[in-house]
Amino acid sequence: LAAEALAGYAGPGRTRDGQVVQILANVQDGAGARAAADAHAEGVGLFRTELAFLGRAQEPSVEEQAVGYAEVLAAFPGRKVVIRTLDAGSDKPLAFATAPDEANPALGVRGLRVARRDPGLLERQLDAVAEAASRTGSTPWVMAPMVATVPEAAGFAAAVRSRGLVPGVMVEVPSAALHAERLLAHVDFLSIGTNDLSQYALAADRLSADLADLTDPWQPALLELVALTAAAGRRAGKPVGVCGEAAADPLLGCVLVGLGITSLSCATPAVARVGGRLSTVDLDTCERAAEAAVAADEPQAARAAARALLAR
Ligand code: PEP
Ligand code: MG
Repeated sequence: LAAEALAGYAGPGRTRDGQVVQILANVQDGAGARAAADAHAEGVGLFRTELAFLGRAQEPSVEEQAVGYAEVLAAFPGRKVVIRTLDAGSDKPLAFATAPDEANPALGVRGLRVARRDPGLLERQLDAVAEAASRTGSTPWVMAPMVATVPEAAGFAAAVRSRGLVPGVMVEVPSAALHAERLLAHVDFLSIGTNDLSQYALAADRLSADLADLTDPWQPALLELVALTAAAGRRAGKPVGVCGEAAADPLLGCVLVGLGITSLSCATPAVARVGGRLSTVDLDTCERAAEAAVAADEPQAARAAARALLAR
């Protein structure tokens, strides 16, 4: 990649021929959000709220939550900020939200499923987000993790809309990708969590180093699920972003854009690399690279095929 494309990246995200693709940041607190704004992220694509409360024995009060959420909103006045409701459980256990004794926590009561047992926890978090929104004069987007069914999305959307916020859901479970269009009948956007979507699509623990080849974000079957989801977004005229690690790989970012993704959200240090790389390629090249990657049988072949088309 030409050094000037990296050094000079100041947003907004777009391909060389002008296709707009928001380059957003994944953050976990106000300081991280301010650093992301300094790095020319256009907003926040994933605010992992659970990370602020990992060591806590008790649920934080609505006021404490509102203060923390407002800090992130204040870093991006008038910009897009996507707040994710608590993704407790599995690799991110929260003492006050998750059961310690599940046999298969990755397949257990995690993410939005926690609200089955404790609906008040989600209600109070949404109240805190609404309070932070009113204090900062912003309209955050709010999304739920680990959504598997249409009724889950519909119930979440109603709770979010009733507070004047914009509802969306994460696509992290294959059933959600398969039913993306039905989910979009209820929510305003989708955000694909490729870390979990690869774990559940390939049936391979995302934390297992032995299975890293299976959870490789270049797995063609994963890319095909992304393509399905993006196509549903296009038909519905609603945005579909990617906020998993896949979006932090500049080459793969171009492929995701070629699949029809409308925003890429990555760790702040990757923002310039991802945005810079995208600015050097045309949309039709991204589309050809995407087609070649999906047609491959394994990740290395997908990567090589995309690189051959996208290399400058
Ligand atoms: C994902 O699963 O891709 C994701 C963005 O969420 P997390 O990594 O926090 O599970
Ligand atoms: Mg996830």
